[in-house]
Amino acid sequence: MRVEPLIFELSKPGRTGTSVPDLDVPEAPLPVEHVRDDLPLPEVSEIDVVRHFTRLSQLNHAVDIDFYPLGSCTMKYNPKINELVARFPGFAHLHPLQDPRTVQGILRLMYELQGFLAEIAGFDAVSLQPAAGAHGELTGILIARAYFDARGEHERRTVIIPDSAHGTNPATAAMAGFRVVEVKSDARGNVDIEQLRQLVGPDTAAIMITNPNTLGLWDENITEIVDLIHSVGGLVYNDGANFNALLGIARPGDFGVDIMHFNLHKTFSTPHGGGGPGSGPVGVKAHLAEFLPGPIVVRRPGEDPEYTWHWPERSIGKIHSFHGNVGMHIRAYAYIRMHGGSGLRRVSEDAVLAANYLLARLRDVYEVPYDRTCMHEFVLSAVRQKRHGVRAMDIAKRLLDFGLHPPTVAFPLIVQEALMIEPTETESLETLDRFVAAMRQIAEEVERDPEFVRQAPHQTFYKRLDEVRANRELDLRWQPERATAATP
Ligand SMILES: *Cc1c(COP(=O)(O)O)cnc(C)c1O
Repeated sequence: MRVEPLIFELSKPGRTGTSVPDLDVPEAPLPVEHVRDDLPLPEVSEIDVVRHFTRLSQLNHAVDIDFYPLGSCTMKYNPKINELVARFPGFAHLHPLQDPRTVQGILRLMYELQGFLAEIAGFDAVSLQPAAGAHGELTGILIARAYFDARGEHERRTVIIPDSAHGTNPATAAMAGFRVVEVKSDARGNVDIEQLRQLVGPDTAAIMITNPNTLGLWDENITEIVDLIHSVGGLVYNDGANFNALLGIARPGDFGVDIMHFNLHKTFSTPHGGGGPGSGPVGVKAHLAEFLPGPIVVRRPGEDPEYTWHWPERSIGKIHSFHGNVGMHIRAYAYIRMHGGSGLRRVSEDAVLAANYLLARLRDVYEVPYDRTCMHEFVLSAVRQKRHGVRAMDIAKRLLDFGLHPPTVAFPLIVQEALMIEPTETESLETLDRFVAAMRQIAEEVERDPEFVRQAPHQTFYKRLDEVRANRELDLRWQPERATAATP
């Protein structure tokens, strides 16, 4: 790793990355109103630019560099064949406003993807429009709202959400105009069914549940929970972020879920992060299909065109420009076709196996607050380490010295000093063992030299950052020297 300071000011007057061929047509002046020559653009060669961005990329962690067990986020490897397929000119060069007759290929792909997702999770209809999980949640909850409005059940304004839920769940319900009521988890990490019984009533619109939940646990009372909500006329929303535990094993639609979002960038290997687009399709049961965002793709065998756009009758409207992040639909489609049904089941089996392996190898050195067989992820607590003055965040920082991405910390909120670990199915036994060795070494260091762990990371380019200031005074913009000088 380089140690010299990171230089951002590479500009040299007159340096350029392009060379324009000699003029072989008559010279014509540019319309002067479209020309600006006062922009403080850096003057750099091509190699300067390539090295600058390559160097920056090396200062970051990525799933293509090493292990990335960021719980709940499912940072699985993104197979490169997905990228190849998404770049096929026949897909990449389409325009969303083209006549359906000229884009039958992509329409067929989207139609089939809607069908695959419906089949995999047990739903009757799917919209591919939402751009992320949280956006899928909003879509799903707006569908619930439209459903109750259409039935004249305007008093149903309460959404029940477990205390282990991701923060997007209550945010979504509140944004859609619902009152949020929290239900506690019991000692086994399930929804407290007795408390839930007290909370349900004629005002219940829905429960937003995550199963398996963010403790990495299957809710043992899921059937009872679903029956209870349905018995008072409410709907069951399943946050599908943890669907990587269930592929080919259990279908939320079969255990009574009415609405669910998929995170294609989690379960179906389309890339996360880097500011790139995600995708959060929504699946619903038949009684909610007419409310889906439009348009969706339908098939009309024997007609011309066979695949075309259709607006569900009482659609909540459009929730994304054009048709969603179609490049992600192509990648997820490639992933599903590559694995097939039995391959997808193997994905979930391997993800669950890897998580249970890590849990078994770490349980003697870190506290396990909910001590059960886990699903595709599990939550440890660093309370034992905290007695030596070391927090979960310090352990996360120390892991960076091993070239490993830390687990999720401080979530779920119901676990003190939480470390939420999700290995995914794509890691070798050697990588899992390397993570175990690092976590065990850190636990030893905490007892021998807690200050050393508190000061971590020691090996990375940047050491401890001032996280409060980074949060309160976020400043990500590079200010060119000239522009800074010119600003009063
Ligand atoms: C990731 C996640 C979400 C939000 O999904 P995004 O795609 O990040 O918007 C919601 N709930 C849970 C449990 C998650 O892990």
